[in-house]
This record gives sequence, structure tokens and C-alpha cells, in this order.
Amino acid sequence: MKTVLFHNHGSAEVLQYTDFPTPEPGEGQVLVKLESAALNRVDLWTRNGWPGIKLEYPHIPGSDGAGTVAGLGAYVSGWSIGDRVVINSNLSCGHCPACIAGQDNRCREWHLLGETVRGTYAEYITIPAANIYRIPEGFEPRQAAAAALVFHTAWHSLITRAGLKPGESVLVVGASGGVNIASIQIAKLAGATVYVVGSGPEKLRLAESVGADYLIDRSMEENWSKTVYNLTSKRGVDVVVDNVGTTFPSSFRAAGKGGRILTVGNSGGPKFEIDNRFIFSKHLSILGSSMGTRADFATVMDLVFAGKLKVILDRDYPLADAGSAQERLEKGEQLGKITLSIG
Ligand SMILES: [Zn+2]
Repeated sequence: MKTVLFHNHGSAEVLQYTDFPTPEPGEGQVLVKLESAALNRVDLWTRNGWPGIKLEYPHIPGSDGAGTVAGLGAYVSGWSIGDRVVINSNLSCGHCPACIAGQDNRCREWHLLGETVRGTYAEYITIPAANIYRIPEGFEPRQAAAAALVFHTAWHSLITRAGLKPGESVLVVGASGGVNIASIQIAKLAGATVYVVGSGPEKLRLAESVGADYLIDRSMEENWSKTVYNLTSKRGVDVVVDNVGTTFPSSFRAAGKGGRILTVGNSGGPKFEIDNRFIFSKHLSILGSSMGTRADFATVMDLVFAGKLKVILDRDYPLADAGSAQERLEKGEQLGKITLSIG
């Protein structure tokens, strides 16, 4: 099969479009012929590497993918060759206490497809049958692939972890980025009022197009936490979605008493200072989460398929041009999800 892989860490130049043996589905696995893969920041982190990362080379990146079932391993039932499916990239053991409790993203043996396990930048992939979900008739595989990781992550954070309720207010720090765009939509669908801080009119227009109620341009308003405070009649917001990290001091200021600060990442870097006084005096809760459960995946993908949540697509590249696609993501030039067409 054709695939994009790398043998060592580095810039996009380490990616090679080349042949690789087509995998065989093992027990409980299916073989999926991929039609589309979507890019995520984790693809860049894995390619660049970090201290302690251990990969089995060559490594194939890619967490998001969609296509058709092309082979069935032993003990797989309920699926047929040709079924159209999207991949849930959360790999879990299925039998540890967390998995039994339905918290499979807290599994002791949890892995993210494409991060520590060979991923979706390929014509074929083998994956546990529990990690595929049916795409309804008429829905494009490209849209399904582009929706999966970001909507799954945002749903788990806002709904499962934070228990967002109708009438609450949500501030999303950052107007671009797949998870933020997904978070704006999920918050609106849940009946919340949504404030978005972003840089530049183009990104804020995108946030507005998916339902944001209040837009704050941080390139014009440096003290944006004060702006949010004033917009909420000096109450502050109930929930802050902060996947930047270095913006935590401002997020604490923008949160109201009892506010929940949600984080699923750190696009601004992993270490920064915070002022503890805000946490106790404002009764703040900091809720971290990573990816989502199988139940979250089914729930959020059904909403995507029903058109209640909209997939924003950026450019599509042929698989062979994965390097150019990653460079676009690395430069932050995209507005929406970058995808790869396969086959
Ligand atoms: Zn488990």
C-alpha cells in the first residue's frame, strides 16, 4: 500500500511517500481502506518528537480517518465489507476498571492512533472493530474524518467533564484551531452564550460563522479579560475553554465565581506562572481532559451526521503531499481542518 511515514524526527522533510506492507486484521480487528485523513497538531508533535517518545519505526502519523471496511479479522461481527466508517482514534484495552466504567480514555493502556501506534496517512489501516463507527448514507468521509478528533475532544471537555448547562456563559480563548471551533458550536448547541477571544478579523469571522455571540479581537484589546468582565456585567463567565495555557492568568480573571477552566492542550507551551489567589478566592475549578470516551464519540458523531454540528474544512491535499499539508498547519495558515485524499 501507499503510505506516508518517517524514520526519524524532524521537519516535514522527514516524511516519505512510499510503499509499506498492507496490514492484516487480527482478532477483533477490521481492515479499513481509507479515503480521507485529517491533520491534527499531534501529527506535528509526533513528527518533531519530544523527550522520552518511543516509536516503532517507520512511523505512520495520523489520528483521523474515514473510509470503508475492506477486511474482517476473527471474532468480528456486525460489520460487512464495504461498510462506510469513521475511526475513533482512542485505543483502549476494553477490560481494565476504567474501560469497564465507560471511561475508556482513562484506560491504563490507552494509546492515541497515529501518536504511539501507526496511523491514518495510509491506504489501509487495521483497527479494533470497537473503534469504527458507521457513516450514514450521503455523508462524506472527508467531513467525518475532519470532525472526529476535534468534536470528540471538545464534547468530552465541555459536556462530560464540565457538565455545561443551558443558560451558562462560555469563553473560548482562541478563534481558530479545530477544537476551539468545535467548542463554540457545542457550547451554542448546549444553550450557552459564547464569547470568543481571537486575533484578527478573519479568524473572528470564522468564530462568528459557527455561532459565537461576542467577539473580542485581542490584537486590538490587550486586556481582554477585562472586556469579558465588562460584557458579563462584571460577573465573569461560567466556563473558560483555554487550550493555550499561557493565557491562564487572563482566563482566571475572566471567570466568574465558581467558574470552571477547561484545558485539553497547551498551544502556548507547557509551563507558565499562575496566581493561586484567583483559584481559591473565586472558587475556580480547573478541569483537564484528553480525548473522549466511546459514548462521547457516538453522541457527538451522531450530531455531526445530523448536521447539528458543522465541519469547517480548509484545504485538501493528495496523500503524497502530506508534507505540504503539515507545513500549512505548522504555519497556522488554515481556517478549518486540513485533510488528505487517499487513493
Ligand atoms: Zn482499559
